[in-house]
Amino acid sequence: MIDTHAHINMKEFEDKLDLIVENAISNNVTHIIVVGMDFFHNERSFILANTYNNMFATVGIHPTTLKGNVKDLEKYLLHKRVVAIGETGIDLYWNKDNLELQTKYFKEQIELAIEYRLPIIIHTRNSFNEAYEIIKPYKGKITGVFHSFSSNYEDALKAIDLGFYIGISGVVTFKKAEELKEVVEKIDLKHLLLETDSPYLAPIPFRGKKNEPAYTNYVLKEVALLKNIDEKIVDKITTENAIKLFKLENIL
Ligand SMILES: [Zn+2]
Repeated sequence: MIDTHAHINMKEFEDKLDLIVENAISNNVTHIIVVGMDFFHNERSFILANTYNNMFATVGIHPTTLKGNVKDLEKYLLHKRVVAIGETGIDLYWNKDNLELQTKYFKEQIELAIEYRLPIIIHTRNSFNEAYEIIKPYKGKITGVFHSFSSNYEDALKAIDLGFYIGISGVVTFKKAEELKEVVEKIDLKHLLLETDSPYLAPIPFRGKKNEPAYTNYVLKEVALLKNIDEKIVDKITTENAIKLFKLENIL
């Protein structure tokens, strides 16, 4: 199993990383994609991916960060353990007033990803349509994931039509996440990735606590339950999806 989205590059994990990896492995989570969101955390992702042989890095500028030059991500992009650009995207929950600047950063990262043939990790919050409209003109040139997908079935179909994966986080275990449960029930496994978004969004029974990659296992269990498919098959297919999207086959 691969946790395709974890921020264990954050300071709060710094002195616990060996334990985090141990817990992950004992929960059958063999690999972790460590996602950057600003230059400090991009560098941390890069260092972790070069320190732990079961971690990979992504580098990006998150829509709630918007500091620094997108061009400065380039120095990371030819390293084989850097497997995507992101996270990037649009966030209209924390700030609705800077959509123009968010769009500029998002487009620049899309274009960089196309240039370097890397997938992109898209964050949306109250903003699926805005992000969708920005990425749509690039259809066929770029792929990636709408991470911690939080919209409805119709939007999931739109994401898939663009050639993107749907990232399923611990939110799927929450009782009120009816739309997301419907997405998981109806969308074929070949379009789904599993993630934690650690330290956020811990699944039930850890809701409200600090999330960690080991809990990908609880996301998997919920997906298996909703789809009424054996956990082993869910694991196999979603892992294959991650290997394909992030081109991990030669570096696992
Ligand atoms: Zn994230």
